[in-house]
Amino acid sequence: MSLIVVGSMAFDAIETPFGKSDKIVGGAATFIAWCASNFTPVKQISVVGGDFPQEELEALAARKVSLEGVQIKKDEKTFFWSGRYHMDMNTRDTLETQLNVLGDFKPVVPDSYQDCEFLMLGNLAPSVQLSVIEQLKTKPKLIVLDTMNFWMEVALDDLKKVLAKIDVLMINDSEARQLSGDYSLVKAAATIMKMGPKYLVIKKGEHGALLFHGNQVFFAPALPLEEVFDPTGAGDTFAGGFIGHIAKTKDISFENMKTAIIVGSAMASFSVEKFGTQRLREITRADIDARLQEFVALVNFDIALV
Ligand code: AMP
Repeated sequence: MSLIVVGSMAFDAIETPFGKSDKIVGGAATFIAWCASNFTPVKQISVVGGDFPQEELEALAARKVSLEGVQIKKDEKTFFWSGRYHMDMNTRDTLETQLNVLGDFKPVVPDSYQDCEFLMLGNLAPSVQLSVIEQLKTKPKLIVLDTMNFWMEVALDDLKKVLAKIDVLMINDSEARQLSGDYSLVKAAATIMKMGPKYLVIKKGEHGALLFHGNQVFFAPALPLEEVFDPTGAGDTFAGGFIGHIAKTKDISFENMKTAIIVGSAMASFSVEKFGTQRLREITRADIDARLQEFVALVNFDIALV
């Protein structure tokens, strides 16, 4: 039961049609760690500057997130991202990306991480994701990768190299179209699976997520919520729930991946209820179980075929 998480740890500034955040803690690996640590111990790999709050690191350590692989560059600045959501809260524009410490990040996998069976490559430079895979002495049971349009635009060749080495790719619908050049998501999935990953998850925000494998498809809805406060990190939280469930159960079958998609959707539904990682810090195991039950009620039905 061991999981390595790689990804950005960041400051975010978020604007929605309903409000604006100050500079708050975010980052792909931050959201993944807060989420996945509900299911399994996490071994984090990332980089932050001297300006990153010590309390945040302590709070993660208190949740059994190992920070041995997190480099702290005392005299440099943490990665910064700002984004503005459109009225539908499903689409957004990146206003600013300051790579700062992420610009020349050389990850080092600590010896104590070498026995990990599961690897979650969260959003950051594909060359960093590849370097982590190459440093592992034993191939993990399952490698999951999340990325975004930014890296398709600035590092497509590196991204294609890492795609050839992973098992599950997670991207959103517009990124699947961008990567494949196909408008139909079914055609896009077939094109992308030829690039390497045997499984593909296409996230569609409030419209749920699709899991593709060979010619099988599974769909999980997103929970219809009365209010979405901040969708930032929903994708990362989804990834954290997915890999957290897989690492906990150690079962990498397609059937178990279906459950993992539901767990990811349930966790993401919490994340959007408050700004940043706030909601993920508050929830208990009982909250998670109650939400999973809501998913069962949402999609369960009987039908008599005559
Ligand atoms: P999501 O909403 O799940 O797509 O993820 C949002 C998180 O991704 C934010 O907390 C950002 O700090 C982080 N992020 C945004 N752009 C990048 C990037 N180019 N590389 C790594 N992380 C990023």
